[in-house]
Amino acid sequence: MGALAEQLRGAVRGPVFGPEDEGFAAEVSGFNLAVRHTPEVAVGITSEADAAAVVRAAADSGTPVRVLATGHGSARAIEDGVLVTTSRMANVTIDGRIARIEAGCRWAEVVAAAAEHGLAPITGASDAVGCIGYTLGGGLGPLSRTYGVSSDWVRGFRVVTGAGEVVTATADENPDLFWALRGGKGGLGLVTSMDFELVELTSLYGGSLFFGPEDVESVLTTWLEWTTSVPETVNSSVAILRLPPLDAIPEPIRGKTTLTVRYAFVGDPAEGERLFQPVRDAGTPILGGVGEMPASDIALIHNDPKDPVPAWDRGALLTEVDAEFAATFVDVAGPDRQLPLVAIEIRHLGGAIHRDVPAGSAVGGRGAAYSLVIIGVPDPTLFADVLPGAANGVLGPLGRWISPEMTVNFAGALSVPGVYEACWPADTLTRLTEIRTAYDPDNLFPYGPPR
Ligand SMILES: Cc1cc2nc3c(=O)[nH]c(=O)nc-3n(C[C@H](O)[C@H](O)[C@H](O)COP(=O)(O)OP(=O)(O)OC[C@H]3O[C@@H](n4cnc5c(N)ncnc54)[C@H](O)[C@@H]3O)c2cc1C
Repeated sequence: MGALAEQLRGAVRGPVFGPEDEGFAAEVSGFNLAVRHTPEVAVGITSEADAAAVVRAAADSGTPVRVLATGHGSARAIEDGVLVTTSRMANVTIDGRIARIEAGCRWAEVVAAAAEHGLAPITGASDAVGCIGYTLGGGLGPLSRTYGVSSDWVRGFRVVTGAGEVVTATADENPDLFWALRGGKGGLGLVTSMDFELVELTSLYGGSLFFGPEDVESVLTTWLEWTTSVPETVNSSVAILRLPPLDAIPEPIRGKTTLTVRYAFVGDPAEGERLFQPVRDAGTPILGGVGEMPASDIALIHNDPKDPVPAWDRGALLTEVDAEFAATFVDVAGPDRQLPLVAIEIRHLGGAIHRDVPAGSAVGGRGAAYSLVIIGVPDPTLFADVLPGAANGVLGPLGRWISPEMTVNFAGALSVPGVYEACWPADTLTRLTEIRTAYDPDNLFPYGPPR
């Protein structure tokens, strides 16, 4: 056993795993099966005291520290240092409208706890994603046009800094760190919990509809046009799906190219139904349904996979689009193409996403009109060349609608040249670098390109 692992075993209550230990592989694995982490040591923290002890021990030996919650953000293998795993810290406590969310919580736990009080968190599409990792990147979810990005709802973080100190970051206490943690994502310490304001919401008018290959063009074109005039209470996205011919997939959408429209309206259900009618009428749905639903079922709208898979994706943000965009998109991504891409998704942004919180935040990409996310087939042998080539074949012809802005949660591997710098405007990036240097002067929490 290494000296650091030995030291950590004496310092923390949670389990410590060296590469030779039974349980190491399970401890360092997460959602993306294509990424195999091989840190020097993995530590499963169980408390804030554990978190501080790990960081202090690592700081003593100058060993880098990284965090693994669910692995939904794992785009690149971690091959050195300490990997802190947070899954054993998964408590949610609710006090009034504030949920205290521990580092290892997924949205599913928070949604369930909040629903008991008639409340809801502003989440991402998948409730299996970790709350902290997602929110540190801002967080674009199925209700974001109405309520803003998820980090707008954070009221405070507890953080272990690079000096091994546990600090609170709120609008009043360490406000610079609070600004940075709301959207600045990484390199800012180990977050042990966050206080998150919930909204009063028990039901939605929403769901998803699927359309066959013959309707892809008409529904997509109608949807794009429709998004230019809908109010902020309307949230929606579309995705061209190419799902494999597997029995587990519903027959109408199995083994062919289909289009799904996801919809979430906050307000009077009759108004939600009326507003959605043009999209519903643009084709003949072959699966799915849209109607009144409990707000706690929000993850069913996107129905993202929960089980670990080899995952590859590529993201971009888009400016305002036009009819020519729709035609180009159908041409490069529609049913006439054979593509190794499981999903090509466009989400409608704008609305409350455009407005920063009054004190400001580090969230990038607020100005974009849409997001575009491309998900490849789960075959790691295609990840190096075939999937990037296919994604470029979609993105290239769309170049003039691609925004210079980016959101870090959809950015993929930040080690790809230029990607990290694109996630924030230059002045935000400069301020983030200053704050990272102030709270982590020895770069204990490496993030992005070397600094
Ligand atoms: C199926 C799927 C659906 C998604 N849907 C959305 C969506 O709707 N909207 C959206 O905005 N994003 C979405 N994402 C992207 C997701 O938000 C990011 O990948 C996010 O980083 C995942 O966080 P995690 O903690 O679950 O993952 P992990 O891979 O465990 O962590 C990712 C990173 O978060 C940071 N981190 C996590 N916990 C801590 C902590 N306690 N302290 C400090 N840093 C920490 C670290 O930098 C870590 O490397 C989705 C991703 C997938 C795979």
